Amino acid sequence: MTTVWISGAEEILRPPEDGLPYLRHDRAGELRLEGGDLMLSGDRIDTFSGDVDLRVDATGCAVLPGFVDCHTHLPFAGWRADEYEMQVTGVPYEEISRRGGGIAASARAFSATDDAAVLAQAAGLAAEMLQSGTTTFEGKTGYGLSVDAERRAARLGRALGEQVAQTTTVTGLFAHAVPQGFTADAWMDEVEGIVDATDVDALDIYVESVAFANEHLERLGRIAAAHDLPLRAHVEQFATNRSVPIAVAAGARSVDHLACLHPDDLVPLAASETAAVLLPGAEFLGAEQVAPGRALADAGAICVLGTDLNPGTSPVSSLPAIIGLAVRRYGWSVREALLACTLNAAYVLGMSDAAGSIEAGKRADVILLDTPASHLPYRFARNPVCAVFVAGRPAWVRPDSAWRLQGSV
Ligand SMILES: [Zn+2]
Repeated sequence: MTTVWISGAEEILRPPEDGLPYLRHDRAGELRLEGGDLMLSGDRIDTFSGDVDLRVDATGCAVLPGFVDCHTHLPFAGWRADEYEMQVTGVPYEEISRRGGGIAASARAFSATDDAAVLAQAAGLAAEMLQSGTTTFEGKTGYGLSVDAERRAARLGRALGEQVAQTTTVTGLFAHAVPQGFTADAWMDEVEGIVDATDVDALDIYVESVAFANEHLERLGRIAAAHDLPLRAHVEQFATNRSVPIAVAAGARSVDHLACLHPDDLVPLAASETAAVLLPGAEFLGAEQVAPGRALADAGAICVLGTDLNPGTSPVSSLPAIIGLAVRRYGWSVREALLACTLNAAYVLGMSDAAGSIEAGKRADVILLDTPASHLPYRFARNPVCAVFVAGRPAWVRPDSAWRLQGSV
């Protein structure tokens, strides 16, 4: 078994106690950021020191659990930079969508691109994410908009997981947009069939005026329960639809976006085990309302951050950038932001027993910053990640930090 000894760190982020499935945000201040050393033994975080194959000089570094990005739309084909220009010059997203842009444009690109090219683009983005510290990520289907294409998207999502360094999951966002020729009700009949026939780790739905309604969310909740799959939902992004109480009643693992969360739904959400996944990249680039991140944290919600990496509303792959936005726009502390893209994000993916925090026995997914953690949001848009370990092995080391590693694994 190979061993890695990370020594002299200025800070190591640890939870207040081991074995927590999540930490509510009113307790984020209990996260510890103390100096010290860390042992990686094989693919696990360990507690004792023995023979060492690789020594890592972490002088001046913050050592964090690898980031978990629980909300991306990988894989997708192409980009929509032209739409971004329309959007910033004043054309509303719903109008772009009605003109055949938006999700439909990405669906056309997806169907016109062969498997190898889709996977090559997604693997390139996964490499970018790795260099920004993301060691686990979720991807979604949703750019298929037909039964066959949605199943292809799920299959390509699995294939991506085989190719990349990270641990990945696949969410079936089969109810993303209503395909041409279907009503929302008729498409939900198809969704039921896709779920029966497709290998995914969770189900998701987009509730919005141009997509699906609360009754479809309720129906997907029943489908998810029947298949023993976690339910997730894109809700309250552009309008207040009061979808949150329905998702919470259905036992959803997460509700994502929440820029237009109804004030009356905040406290019940915070008291539930449904995580509040906030996507400040989409909020910022889409000039959306700002989700009530401060109030959710104060109310003790399980708060989470994701990139929402997608070709339309958030072409952002960097969780350090997302952390910078969240700290400024939600008024969050550094610990609150870190919690939201480590342990609590792992909870959303059902992986907090194996990832998301530095604890003995968890997977040795660990990153080094070349600064204290406080610089992560403060030096906004700079990527301080200088080394990334996945399952106990160096998966990426920034060239100017190669001197920190001595030995080999
Ligand atoms: Zn999304």
